[in-house]
Amino acid sequence: MRILVVEDEVKIARAIQRGLELKGYAVDVVHDADTGLSYAVDADYDVIILDRMLPGSFDGVGLAEQARKAGQKAPILMLTARGSVADKVSGLNSGADDYLVKPFSFQELVARIQALLRRPPATSGPKLICDDLELDPSNYQVIRGNTPIALSQKEFSLLDYFMRNVGRVVTKDMIINHVWNEDSLILPNTVEVYVGYLRAKIDRPFPKSKQLLQTKRGFGYVLG
Ligand code: CA
Repeated sequence: MRILVVEDEVKIARAIQRGLELKGYAVDVVHDADTGLSYAVDADYDVIILDRMLPGSFDGVGLAEQARKAGQKAPILMLTARGSVADKVSGLNSGADDYLVKPFSFQELVARIQALLRRPPATSGPKLICDDLELDPSNYQVIRGNTPIALSQKEFSLLDYFMRNVGRVVTKDMIINHVWNEDSLILPNTVEVYVGYLRAKIDRPFPKSKQLLQTKRGFGYVLG
């Protein structure tokens, strides 16, 4: 899952980035509204976190409006130091999906992000399921049949992305855009390597089960 953070307070932005990266998210951080909009329009984000008061041509509310106008559909979580009802209403009207008042705990932020990721088109329940493979984003557990599977953070992010796109062809570019951030220099070969790691954990140890991760030569991969 890839997240954009637009927050001008550098310390807060860094803390959010570090915390979310430890949770396995790919995170891009920018500090002003104009750069924020160019990122929000150019890349595939799964969640966008916007500070309400930002330097630049517009504030967080304006940025949310512009991003929506440009076709960005990712859920938006607005951060603000103010918590008045009027602010909240204008924030939500601008296209933000949720609102978090500063200061907030990191656990609260993660819980809100997970709630936003659970909305359609993700799944109806918290668990992602494909055949006898289950991934629970709330506690980072992966189980095949009755066997727990230990994954690295990147493997988990990759599987999470596949499981939100069961039955659909996913290209290497799509994977790079959702699983790694802008600063990562990722080559298509790296994706192949990680898909190999994942296959060695979710499919190969289960020869009697359906082999779920299929390669579509020249296109990408399909889970399911
Ligand atoms: Ca600010």
